[in-house]
Amino acid sequence: MNDLNHKTNADNSSQGDSSTRSSPTHFGYETVSGSEKVQRVMGVFSSVASQYDLMNDLMSGGMHRCWKRRMIAAAAIGAGSRVLDVAAGSGDIAIGLATKMGPAGRVVLTDLNGPMLAEGARRVIDAGLLPGRADCIQSDGTKLAFADNSFDCVTIAFGIRNFLDIEAGLAEFYRVLKPGGQFMCLEFSRPVLPGLDVVYDAFSFNVIPLIGEKVTGDRDSYQYLVESIRRFPDQGRFEKLIRGAGFELVKHENMSGGIVALHRGYKI
Ligand code: SAM
Repeated sequence: MNDLNHKTNADNSSQGDSSTRSSPTHFGYETVSGSEKVQRVMGVFSSVASQYDLMNDLMSGGMHRCWKRRMIAAAAIGAGSRVLDVAAGSGDIAIGLATKMGPAGRVVLTDLNGPMLAEGARRVIDAGLLPGRADCIQSDGTKLAFADNSFDCVTIAFGIRNFLDIEAGLAEFYRVLKPGGQFMCLEFSRPVLPGLDVVYDAFSFNVIPLIGEKVTGDRDSYQYLVESIRRFPDQGRFEKLIRGAGFELVKHENMSGGIVALHRGYKI
C-alpha cells in the first residue's frame, strides 16, 4: 500500500470526537447517542451482509444495478487512475470501476464493517481482480486511513446516509482527493415526480420491512433503511453540504424520478 501512503487507522470503530459520540443523534426515527448509532449501524450491516446483494435486487426490482451502472459510466477515470470507493460493502461500484479502468487502474475498497468488506473481498476475487488492481482496507469513512491528495476519484454509494457525521465524511473525501479529482455520491434522495412520493412511501414502509423479515429474518434493519432515507438531506441540501466541504462545480442528477440522486463535485 506504499504508493497510497496508507496509514493505520488505529480506532476504526469510533466515528467522531467524544462530543459527537455522546450527543443525541438519530438512528432512523429514534433518538440515540452518537456511539449507540455507530454500534447499531454496524449491527445492521453485520446482520444483513450475507443476504445484502439478494436483498438489493428484491427491494429495488434490480434497479440498483442501473443506478450503479450510471455512476460507473459518469466516473472521470482512465487507465492508471487511483480510485477510493468508501463504504464499498459488497463491491459493486469498486468492481465496475476497476473493470472500466483496466489492468493499469487501481481501486481501494474501504468499509467500516468487517462482514460487509469480507463480502466485497470475496466478490473482488470472483471478478478475477488481483491485489494491486483492487484492495480491501477496513477504515471509517469519517476518519480515512489514507494520506492527503492520494486519489483521482472518490466514490460512495448508499453509504453516507449511515455516517454519524456526514460533514466529517465529506471533509475526509476532499482531503484524500488529488487536486482536480472527482467526488461522486450515489444516495437515496427525494422523489420529484408528482404523486411518486405517495406510492414510494407506501412501498417503502409496507413492503421493504416485510421482504427483509421474510428473507433475512431481520425486519428492524430494513425499517432502519427506509427511515434513514427520509432523514437524509434532499438533493439541494446535500449539494450545499458538498460545497461546504470545499468541492466546486457541484451538481446532481436524479434517477428514477429522484428516488436516487447522483451528486458530483471536484477538488479544484
Ligand atoms: N456501496 C455498497 C453498495 O452500493 O452496494 C454498500 C452500501 S451499504 C447500503 C452501506 C455501507 O456503508 C455498509 O457496507 C456499511 O458497513 C458502510 N458504512 C456505514 N458507516 C460507515 C462508516 N462510517 N465508514 C465506512 N463505511 C460505513
